[in-house]
Amino acid sequence: MVQVNMETHLLGANELLARRNRQLFKDHKVLVINLMSSPGSGKTTILERTIEALGGQLRLGVIEGDLYTDQDAQRIEKKGVKVIQINTEGACHLDAAMVGKAYGQLPTDKMDLMVIENVGNLVCPAEFDLGEDFTAVVISTTEGNDKLRKYPLIFRQAKAVLLNKMDLLPYTDFNLERFKNDLDQINPSATVFMVSGRTGEGIENWTRWVFEEVKRKNPF
Ligand code: MG
Ligand code: ZN
Repeated sequence: MVQVNMETHLLGANELLARRNRQLFKDHKVLVINLMSSPGSGKTTILERTIEALGGQLRLGVIEGDLYTDQDAQRIEKKGVKVIQINTEGACHLDAAMVGKAYGQLPTDKMDLMVIENVGNLVCPAEFDLGEDFTAVVISTTEGNDKLRKYPLIFRQAKAVLLNKMDLLPYTDFNLERFKNDLDQINPSATVFMVSGRTGEGIENWTRWVFEEVKRKNPF
């Protein structure tokens, strides 16, 4: 009983901070995407591709959430983008307080797009609003077909779902029809992108869509 109350309290506090982040993002005219997936789905590779495609047109910033290492942040930094690393020291999700603190270290009034790469986990990241404009979830063909039904919340909230590792599809048992049917049941309004971070297949559809979302929030 006590635990339940504490959880409610924590989520309440997070909601307040998420609201504050959202207002800051609005004031600073930056579109913020919370990028989520299970570990190894290819978030960082997709982020690298996104930076390659949009870095010349938009001012970008990245917040990297990881349990311990800064390997992903280093990969992003190599692409010439300002990145702030959050090490959660074991916590399996980012919360609005962590993001608010990291955001303050970025050139806040000089960004058009900020991507938050969340900790690899399909469960509780979905329960913590960070103040983002929307969430995008990556799932890969090598993860099998059961993830949508097992973790419906994260897919239900997503504005975009990226099916990654399309280049490996012929070598897996992943069933595209079943994926589409499951997503139709859970979240029929999600925009779906079939991509390969490795080969670059389909990435342009995703980055063009992101560009339009940035312009929609802040016409320039
Ligand atoms: Mg990563
Ligand atoms: Zn967690």
